[in-house]
Amino acid sequence: MKALVYTGIGQLELRDLPAPEAEFIVRVLGSGICGTDVKTYTKGHHLFTPPTVLGHEFYGRVEHSFPGSGFSAGDPVVVAPYAECGKCALCAAGAGTLCRHKSFVEGGAFCEYVGIPSSYVATGVFAIPEADDAFTLVEPLACVLNGVEHLKIRPTSKVLVVGAGPMGALFALLFEARGIPVTVVEPSALRRDAVASWGIDAREPGAVQAGDYDNIVIAVNRKELVEEYIKSIADTGTVLMFAGLGKGEAVAIDSYSIHYREVALSGCSGYAMPHFRKALELIIEHRDIFSRVISRRMPLGEGKEAFALLQSGQAFKIVLKPGSENEGSLR
Ligand SMILES: [Zn+2]
Ligand SMILES: [Zn+2]
Repeated sequence: MKALVYTGIGQLELRDLPAPEAEFIVRVLGSGICGTDVKTYTKGHHLFTPPTVLGHEFYGRVEHSFPGSGFSAGDPVVVAPYAECGKCALCAAGAGTLCRHKSFVEGGAFCEYVGIPSSYVATGVFAIPEADDAFTLVEPLACVLNGVEHLKIRPTSKVLVVGAGPMGALFALLFEARGIPVTVVEPSALRRDAVASWGIDAREPGAVQAGDYDNIVIAVNRKELVEEYIKSIADTGTVLMFAGLGKGEAVAIDSYSIHYREVALSGCSGYAMPHFRKALELIIEHRDIFSRVISRRMPLGEGKEAFALLQSGQAFKIVLKPGSENEGSLR
């Protein structure tokens, strides 16, 4: 099968790899490029040692199944890239995102086929109504839903999303879909204009009064922003560190805001299966809204170009389409 292989920092090659052998196989129809994939490609990642295949936001059709799996060949499905154990103390405490006994789909999805262990099918494979690239957004939207749980949204709340990368854009679309007033602040005119074209209030940095907002999502990995918004958010507000900072990186917290203004600082990463299932429902219900975040669809063979577009901030989400190698660029 064709696979886009990450062979080292800044390197991707389209190669022929043996197709996976498994009791359950999904033919990948679309695989979204995630911020983590771009980060790995740009500067390496301790979890992904080259040569390896990246990509975990995917959907496709069942190519091969086993009796009793509940799926037949040809069924459209979306696959959760990992799932918590559901049994440990953290899972029981509702913190499945932090479970240390997760099961994972092995191997990435920037390729034509992904093998799923039979024991994982009941947990992590979900039927979808039809094949649609919107289903590549289930995993990132699940992470966003986890983020929303860490906010304190009240009937009078106004949300500020700092940074309109793909995740910031998904946050904004989610609040918009739920009728919660949201403003996005983003330095890139290209991204700002795209968000504004969806009918969402998008402004330049400096053009917002943070004190007008009681929930602020920081979707850019810059600690100065965390420091600044803790000082300037409305009383009793919550600042969510959604973008991760470097391990051990210190942030200077304004203690006055925490103590005298009851400002809270929270953070999270990843998703747990309840978020994934909820995200799937939302994508089914509001497919047209969330699909706006998909800027382009490109064949696997143009993976390098796709990563370059994302590195330069010229696209939100790009969906790689395995099996379209001979069709040239799709859009
Ligand atoms: Zn992702
Ligand atoms: Zn667990």
